Amino acid sequence: MEHNLLLYNTLHRQKELFKPLHEGHVGMYVCGPTVYGDAHLGHARPAITFDVLFRYLRHLGYRVRYVRNITDVGHLEHDADSGEDKIAKKARLEQLEPMEVVQLYLNRYHRDMEALNVLPPSIEPHASGHLIEQIAYVQKILDAGYAYESNGSVYFDVEKFNRDHHYGKLSGRNIDELRNETRTLDGQEEKRNPLDFALWKKASPEHIMHWPSPWSEGFPGWHLECSTMGEKYLGDTFDIHGGGLDLMFPHHECEIAQSVAAQGHEAVRYWLHNNMITINGKKMGKSYGNFITLEQFYDGSHPALTQAYSPMVIRFFILQAHYRSTVDFSNEALQGAEKALQKMLDGYRRLQSLMPAEASSVELPDFATRCYEALDDDLNTPMVIATLFDACRYINQAADGQIKLSAEDLSKLRHLFDVFLVDLLGVKVASEAGGASMAPFEGAVDLLMEIRGNAKAAKDWATSDLIRNKMAELGFDIKDTKQGVEWKLK
Ligand code: ZN
Repeated sequence: MEHNLLLYNTLHRQKELFKPLHEGHVGMYVCGPTVYGDAHLGHARPAITFDVLFRYLRHLGYRVRYVRNITDVGHLEHDADSGEDKIAKKARLEQLEPMEVVQLYLNRYHRDMEALNVLPPSIEPHASGHLIEQIAYVQKILDAGYAYESNGSVYFDVEKFNRDHHYGKLSGRNIDELRNETRTLDGQEEKRNPLDFALWKKASPEHIMHWPSPWSEGFPGWHLECSTMGEKYLGDTFDIHGGGLDLMFPHHECEIAQSVAAQGHEAVRYWLHNNMITINGKKMGKSYGNFITLEQFYDGSHPALTQAYSPMVIRFFILQAHYRSTVDFSNEALQGAEKALQKMLDGYRRLQSLMPAEASSVELPDFATRCYEALDDDLNTPMVIATLFDACRYINQAADGQIKLSAEDLSKLRHLFDVFLVDLLGVKVASEAGGASMAPFEGAVDLLMEIRGNAKAAKDWATSDLIRNKMAELGFDIKDTKQGVEWKLK
């Protein structure tokens, strides 16, 4: 089947036919987390969005090198409150070595991503492991004349760059507008212009994460790591760069300026941005009291949550919206997603146990083509989900005996769900994904409980004790109540 994968390129503000630079290979870079705290919903959306793209490109037969960086040197740009490196601040507060903070939260981030069934990227480079490359990159920009040294720090000369190129092309802004928006902050007297951004910062004495460089003992600016590591692992031009919409300006705009300054040309061919998540209509943030970590969603411990939500409910909820539209989280919306996922999994389970008829009594629509067309249209995951629900209607009618489906049609349907629900949307159909898919397991345990009950009634204590003790060893908690036997896994 011919695929015309159309992706919305933020740079040109239109859907464009995806053609990789090197036939059969795709290079993809996505801005990863800054690891100084637990992952929250804001981390889940880009991770899931680009996970689906990664899965789909591989499904189409491309060899994909997916690079997702780890920001672990901290960055000043976003630290409005104290200006202190976020990781260093956390290390000071918790009396940890900064790399302990990084490892602690990176382990937790990986655990949360695995729960969401997000595949690990091909390379996960740390900014702290690429200081030599970052220093060399700063030197290239200095040599090209687009940066200047000031008091041990190095700044990118935005005004000069804008005279030769266009600063603001990705976000659709122009420099006059940006000049008016930019306030002069403390420490900016080193800069020629408030819009200039740091490539290298001289470390103040209390700054604990610093490295030697030709300019000072200091640390790299945040935007630099992505330009540097993108080039190192994907080459000076690569296919896809992704991230959240909040990173488009200034982060990605600065990345473009850096690569044009250092290399003489842009590095990225397709820029993709996922939209943001709000909670009950409000922006998510610590100051709004609605900052809910993924772990809190999974165990329901945040006061704003009326219940726990499994990682698959979160994943399904995110995929029910197109990645470029905003998503608003609320308990009602999540409960809706939970019901919908349950319905989908019920359909999947019923499909596995359907017996084939001699011939089908209806003609099935071409669901697979509809799903492919949806994914080819800028990853329209809500349309894929709607199509799978359409297929569920046929499954339910067949299970209720209203229609008949042949072995060939049943195998087509099973293939449809295996490809689109399991492989591409990445929905786990077993274990914690939902009660329905646990049905065979639960049925088997119930059967054992029934045998034990019968043994007790017949005063066959040896059998009833054997079952009880063995089940306890396996980790089951069994309680005899007035209503009958209750069991759960400890
Ligand atoms: Zn980045």
